Amino acid sequence: MLNRGPTLNTRTVLEIVRKYSLDSAGVEVTSLGGLKKIGGQNCVLITLPNGDQLLIDCGKIVGDDNFEKEKASLYPNFDAINFDRLVAVVLSHGHYDHILAIPKLLELRGEREIPLLILATPVTFVVLEKVLANAGYKADQLSKLTTFQLLNDQQSIGRFKIEAYPVIHSIPGSVCLVIEACKKRIMYLSDFKWMRNNWIEYSEAQVLFEKLARTNIDLLLMDSTNAKMEGQTPSVTRTRATFERILTAEKYKDRRIIIAMFSSAFEDASDIAIAANELGGRQCSCRGVAMSFFFDLFGVLGDQSHYADGQEVIFVTGGQAEKTAVLNKASLGQSDWLELQPSDVVIIASNPIPGNDVNIELMVSRIKTIGCEVITTKESPEIHVSGHEMIDGLKRATETIQPQRLMPIHGDRPSRVQLGKAVHSTNPELDVLIVSDNEPIVI
Ligand SMILES: [Zn+2]
Repeated sequence: MLNRGPTLNTRTVLEIVRKYSLDSAGVEVTSLGGLKKIGGQNCVLITLPNGDQLLIDCGKIVGDDNFEKEKASLYPNFDAINFDRLVAVVLSHGHYDHILAIPKLLELRGEREIPLLILATPVTFVVLEKVLANAGYKADQLSKLTTFQLLNDQQSIGRFKIEAYPVIHSIPGSVCLVIEACKKRIMYLSDFKWMRNNWIEYSEAQVLFEKLARTNIDLLLMDSTNAKMEGQTPSVTRTRATFERILTAEKYKDRRIIIAMFSSAFEDASDIAIAANELGGRQCSCRGVAMSFFFDLFGVLGDQSHYADGQEVIFVTGGQAEKTAVLNKASLGQSDWLELQPSDVVIIASNPIPGNDVNIELMVSRIKTIGCEVITTKESPEIHVSGHEMIDGLKRATETIQPQRLMPIHGDRPSRVQLGKAVHSTNPELDVLIVSDNEPIVI
């Protein structure tokens, strides 16, 4: 029998955490949220021995703020932040589970003489501006925020050196970050995948990770969203081909096609829209507040006025059966944006996030009752490619970056343990830190 090295269990995990907590003069890393579920309130605080602090990402679970009981659990726990010593917030990308709690952070921070620096790439900053405007921050207040535009860039803020490198994810402007302070290098590899389109992107990521490996990464914090999924995240080529088949299928020729997907996956939507325009002369549109925001912001659909020959393609939100999203409300006959017709073909182009499965099944059954044909990733897995890397890709990233320690983030405990076990199978010496939110580790 092969010796696979020690398995990751709670006892070894606790020992590891204790080991890194002994040296209280080191750099402290604390997750303030995001370790309980996927799509959580991702937020990591770095505290130096002198008390200076830096925050990485500041997400919120998209929920209903009107439910007072639920409200507190939607946000990171900001108790560990000393607002007099917080020098900057660095954002990895513009998804809501990484930026939506910024207005709350500013509210708690209150008036301070020195403005808080927020570092983000231009795309992320555009999304953030909208988030801040929605939260009631006016232009003159926004000007108090100092923004750096990170991209293959280095910034020194106080004792922190911050490096940002582009990575592939489902929203443009995504970066991985390396924070250097007190001679420690902490890499934050948030949501990413090796490639979206082709192997050129794969090799570029390989070169980047090898380069960072040579700089000695003390701690790697890495996304574990898809740790339970076997294999490596494929390119979007197969998704394009599948949609081309659907759009040209004889049986769908005279039927309206409704596509539910994440509003931020607008690059995928753009590919589908081009195929719909060119192959069937179908006009494309989108419905829903979040989707309209992203589609307008990035000009996803372009000029659709030339395409009116075929039946319409409509992009909507609600693939996760979210309470207020267009598709869910349409399935209940309660949407102002969309009225489903029996002849519609409804494509749900996202994998169910654990916890949403039951609601999605109920929604699908309501849509079928209306008479629509429904295609999900269960019947046709090729209609969606995740923006997150799967277990083989995560393992490969760890092997390439060669960190001293790995702390899986962005996921429930089973997903993070799964990632730990996978990297241990080939590298039993690597310390894997499975911690809880608000449990600091010191390196
Ligand atoms: Zn993301």
